[in-house]
Amino acid sequence: MPSFSHSKIVAFETCPLQYKYAYIDRIKVEAEDTVETFLGSRVHEALEKLYRDKKYERLMSLEELLAYYNKLWKEEWKDSVVIVKKEYTQENYRKIGERCLSDYYKRHKPFDRGRIIGLETTDFLALDEEGKYKFHIRIDRLMDMGNGVYEVHDYKTGSSLPKQEELDQDRQLAVYSLWVRQQFKDFKKVRLVWHYVAFDKEMDSYRTKEQLATLRKETFEKIKKIESAEEFLANVSGLCDWCLYKGICPMWKHEVQLEEKPENEYLNDPGLKLVDEYVRIKGELDEHRREAEEKLEKLKQALIAFCAKEGVSAVFGSENKITVKQYEYIKFPGKNTEEREELIKILQSIGKLSKVSDLDVYVLAKILKNKEWDEHQLDLLRKFETREKSHRLSISKK
Ligand code: SF4
Repeated sequence: MPSFSHSKIVAFETCPLQYKYAYIDRIKVEAEDTVETFLGSRVHEALEKLYRDKKYERLMSLEELLAYYNKLWKEEWKDSVVIVKKEYTQENYRKIGERCLSDYYKRHKPFDRGRIIGLETTDFLALDEEGKYKFHIRIDRLMDMGNGVYEVHDYKTGSSLPKQEELDQDRQLAVYSLWVRQQFKDFKKVRLVWHYVAFDKEMDSYRTKEQLATLRKETFEKIKKIESAEEFLANVSGLCDWCLYKGICPMWKHEVQLEEKPENEYLNDPGLKLVDEYVRIKGELDEHRREAEEKLEKLKQALIAFCAKEGVSAVFGSENKITVKQYEYIKFPGKNTEEREELIKILQSIGKLSKVSDLDVYVLAKILKNKEWDEHQLDLLRKFETREKSHRLSISKK
C-alpha cells in the first residue's frame, strides 16, 4: 500500500535522484541533518512541549521554554550536523531558535485561543476510492475554534517568507484539511495557519470544497506518476548544498573528493587535469572559429561586391570557383506569435493544416519520457521507439 508524505513528494519534485537515494535505496549517510533542519526540529519540539503543558493547564514561562529548547539543543547536537553557510556557527543558529521562540511566546501568550485537539497528530488520508494510496498526515497543532471551525497550524523556521499566492497553492496543509474535514461531523471550515517564526509572522489561507477535490485528484495523479517513474535524473540546483547525498551524487562526488585532497594531490587529480585541458583547447577552438567566421564573412561581402562591380556571377580561383546567386526567400511568422496563431487558424479553416505541418518527433519523445498520455496510447508509440546513447559535454563555472 503506497503511502506518501508531503516531504516525500517535495523530494521527488526537487530532485528525482535525491528521492531515489532517500526513499527507494534508503541510503544511510553519515550527516543525518543540516543545521537548518536541526534548528527546525528543536523549535518544533519546544513548541510541542509548550502546548502539551497547556493541555494539562500548565503554562510554561518564557524562561522555561528557552531552557527546554537549549537542553534539547545540547543533548541532540552532533558534530555531523552540516553547516553549509560557513560564516555562521552552531551558536548563531541556536540563537535564531531562541529568538523565534521568544517572539512567538510574546505574541501568543497566554495561548488560550481555541481548544487544542492534536499535537504532532499523525494519521493517513486515503486519496483514492479503494484506499490504496495514502497521504501521511502530520499536523504540528490542530485546534478546535468552536462552531465547526478548525485550524491547522504549522511552524516554519526557514529564512524566507512565501508570497500569499504561494500559500494559497500550498499542498501540504490543504491535504491535511481534507483529513480534518473527514474527521469531524460538525466540520464547517478549516483555517490553514503558518507561523513563520523567524519573521514573527502568522499567515493563513482557506480552501473551498471544489479546490480540495481538485487537490486530492492532483495529488493522487502526482503520486502515481512518482510510483511509475523509471528514470531518476539528478536536478542540480542551489539546494544541492543542503542535500545530504551530495558526497555520493554523481553530479558532485568528484568535487567532494577534490575538497578532501591535500593541495599537492589536488592539482594532480586526473579528472581535474582533463577538465582544465578540455576547457583550454575548447577555448582556443572557439576563438579560432570566431576569427575564421569573421574573416569568412568579410570575404563573402567582398565577393558579392566584386560580382556586382564586374557584372559576373561566378568568380574563379586557382583550383576552385565560387558562384554567387542572389535569391529571395519567403518568410512566415515565427513560433509563439499572434500572426502564427492566425495563420494556423486559417489553414485549419481551409482544411490544409495537415498538408503543411510535420510530425514533431521531439515532442513525441517528450510525451513518451514523461508518460503524458494513457498507457494504451503510449504502447502504440513505443512500437516505433528506438533508444540510442550519446554524450553531451557542457562547461560551466563551479
Ligand atoms: S546533490 Fe543535488 S543533484 Fe545530487 S542528489 Fe542531491 S539534490 Fe540531487
